[in-house]
Amino acid sequence: MRCVATTVDYTLRKRSVLRDFRCGRLSVYDVCDAHPEIRRIATNVGERTSCLCPVCRKENLRLLNFVYGNELESDNGRVYPTEAVFDGLRKRYRDFTCYVVEVCIGCNWNHLVRSINFKNAGGG
Ligand SMILES: [Zn+2]
Repeated sequence: MRCVATTVDYTLRKRSVLRDFRCGRLSVYDVCDAHPEIRRIATNVGERTSCLCPVCRKENLRLLNFVYGNELESDNGRVYPTEAVFDGLRKRYRDFTCYVVEVCIGCNWNHLVRSINFKNAGGG
């Protein structure tokens, strides 16, 4: 099957949030609002990165891949390791979207990094 991946990058949105935070338009409570469940998942299975948190600059960011799609049924909204998204899921499902979220387990900063929609064009 031919698979088409369409990525939407949220870097500009992130820069604007961080700019508003640094100049005081947003408080630490506005930007570091990770839900306790997201923080727990990030602590347990988040993929460690070499990037320092842009807010507290103490912890390295962790990435979570939340996957949504009609065909996923009970697995809808589950977190998958990156290789599972790009390998296994891409072969198994025709249409799904992966939302990549960065989380700091130190200060609770969290932000959508990118979303990737995978569509199998069919053809065996
Ligand atoms: Zn942080």
